[in-house]
Amino acid sequence: MGSFDFHSHSSFSDGLYPPAEVIRRAAANNPAAFALTDHDTLDGLAQARFAAQTLSLSFIDGVEISTTWMDKTLHIVGLGIDPGNNELAQGLHQVRTGRVERAQRMADALARIGIGGCFEGSMVLASNPHLVGRTHFARYLVSQGMAKDTKAVFRKYLVPGKPGYVKHSWATIEEATRWIHKAGGVAVLAHPGRYDIGPNAMKRLLDEFKSVGGDAVEVITSNHTREQAELFARHAQHFGLHASAGSDFHGDEGDRVAPGRTYDLPTGVKPIWELLRHTLDVDVVGAY
Ligand code: AMP
Ligand code: MN
Ligand code: MN
Ligand code: MN
Repeated sequence: MGSFDFHSHSSFSDGLYPPAEVIRRAAANNPAAFALTDHDTLDGLAQARFAAQTLSLSFIDGVEISTTWMDKTLHIVGLGIDPGNNELAQGLHQVRTGRVERAQRMADALARIGIGGCFEGSMVLASNPHLVGRTHFARYLVSQGMAKDTKAVFRKYLVPGKPGYVKHSWATIEEATRWIHKAGGVAVLAHPGRYDIGPNAMKRLLDEFKSVGGDAVEVITSNHTREQAELFARHAQHFGLHASAGSDFHGDEGDRVAPGRTYDLPTGVKPIWELLRHTLDVDVVGAY
């Protein structure tokens, strides 16, 4: 029995591959179950589910919602959601509004330091223009020789304090959690180790996430060291949250992340699949 992978991206947001190709690559790693969780859109799920069925891969419908908390951008993953749910669809529509305008402001900011053409260049790379984001900017700037890889572009230009970063307000964590619950899903705080938040603020965040109905913490993610995984496992236990695992696969060369392959959860945590039994295939549940 392989591990499970509940976090991945297709070209419907900022992944490089279309859903069917993400699924094909994931299935090759034989996970127990797999979720596509594109940023702020459900549009790739039908294609992904279809591809998963043809390969007998146990598939979970997911989404990763952009939120703002204390001026920081946080991501909340929704798993086991009904892609036909109206409240979730409307919420995501509201979150997407503003991405294109933000992209224009980012391009203007970069133009001011002499880097032109970023809006057009990034829009061309976004197969889904409404979902244009920093990853497309990063890929465009790499293609222009501005840095050796996307990670270097983020470091130099696209994170807070750097010239291409502009402020933007996404959903609140309460809204994101509510929309996910309305759609029958569970809400997961994604890659907590990536946020630039001190230990006390992190505890406040986990407390607040729990109090707005949050269900789980992503303990295993390609962004975490083993030590961070252990830390967030203990946090999950302390705050009464379940633990999730995901590759956060985007397909970029050099990021060494394989879809469908994650590490085992640390011992003692409550695994998130306990909350997803209703959406998982019976044989998968039996295998655990
Ligand atoms: P956006 O939603 O447009 O602000 O873009 C956020 C996305 O950028 C994330 O989902 C990641 O795919 C990517 N990202 C954020 N920070 C980094 C980083 N330091 N290095 C590489 N990719 C990053
Ligand atoms: Mn992304
Ligand atoms: Mn994320
Ligand atoms: Mn992600």
